[in-house]
Amino acid sequence: MKKYYLLTPGPTPVPPRVAARTAEPIIHHRTKEFGELFDRVQEGMKYVMRTKNDVLMIMGSGTAAMEAAIANTCSSGDKVLVGSIGVFGDRFVDICEAYGLSPLVIREEWGTPLSPQKVEDALKKNPDIKIVTAQHTETSTTTVNDLKTIGAIVAKTHALFVVDSVSGLAAQELHMDDWKIDVLVSGSQKGLMCPPGLSMAAISEKGWKHVETAKLPRFYSDFRRIRKSIATHETPWTPAVSLFQGLDEAIKMIKEETLEGVWKRHQTLAKAVRAGFQAMGLKALSTYPCDVVTGAWLPDSVDGKAVIRKMLTDYGVSIAGGQKHLKGKIVRLAHMGYMDAFDMLIGLNAIENALSELGYKVPQAGQAVEAAKAALVS
Ligand SMILES: *Cc1c(COP(=O)(O)O)cnc(C)c1O
Repeated sequence: MKKYYLLTPGPTPVPPRVAARTAEPIIHHRTKEFGELFDRVQEGMKYVMRTKNDVLMIMGSGTAAMEAAIANTCSSGDKVLVGSIGVFGDRFVDICEAYGLSPLVIREEWGTPLSPQKVEDALKKNPDIKIVTAQHTETSTTTVNDLKTIGAIVAKTHALFVVDSVSGLAAQELHMDDWKIDVLVSGSQKGLMCPPGLSMAAISEKGWKHVETAKLPRFYSDFRRIRKSIATHETPWTPAVSLFQGLDEAIKMIKEETLEGVWKRHQTLAKAVRAGFQAMGLKALSTYPCDVVTGAWLPDSVDGKAVIRKMLTDYGVSIAGGQKHLKGKIVRLAHMGYMDAFDMLIGLNAIENALSELGYKVPQAGQAVEAAKAALVS
């Protein structure tokens, strides 16, 4: 018998309460019963996103909402500014190019947050920029962006601020309205503690003006159609009913803990994991680490892919390695969604064991867990 521990930055573990709701009988989506569920999820998503704006529900993983954000706000030839600090920032570049747009890109070294100054300079130099994109938490580099500062800069221009908070929502502090975010996208399988398959987009009043005039083709994820159907408490197409049921329960759990409580828990777990890595002699990947996943450089002598594989096959502990040029060089331990202190102790202990079995001399066996425990109570 081996127990399985899912400690990856998406998908994340689904709480039993949420899983049970997704197993409920399917109800028809053009009914009063679905309408009530839809309205609860709508109201709950507004709470989680800290917004008064409608939240559009899109079937598909987070990338579906990212693509919809571009297709619904741009016309051919529009100037887009992509702030990229990792894999998911680059995904906006790929999406733009797929739609024939040639984005301007600000790239930071991986592990560094987006410079608000560079965004401000680019906007001054290019007053015709239509949208600016950024990640809330860049999962690939375990880094958080200063959205509040960047939002205030973009808000002074005609450009929209498009934010991907797929991994940050319901985990790290975020205020859509107060931080002047115009399009906020997220997904079900990270902080929201649901199975993968559902994504969301909320749009500000300023954003809707762009949506009304944007000319890029779109149909399935046409924000105008999705918004129109909110008035009748439904989605334009058949929704993922089971995921709505699950999300309804997940939102209930978030409300029981309070959103501030959820943010605080992630902050505490992040602190503990950082302390654990440090005690193992591993250097932090990010100069501005986020609260949802923590990355650390592995010693050169160790093959990172072997660490991940060993942890999964020998201990049943699933964590993430690096993407693109970080492949084999880092580990990423997630504390996203349905996770608590003991999950982190398991993750740290498993990493320490794997490293030591692969020949790395940890400074002091057991020290990672002790350091994490000390950070949890301090
Ligand atoms: C997971 C993630 C996404 C979306 O990826 P999907 O696989 O489409 O769900 C987008 N941005 C960030 C920052 C993510 O972590």
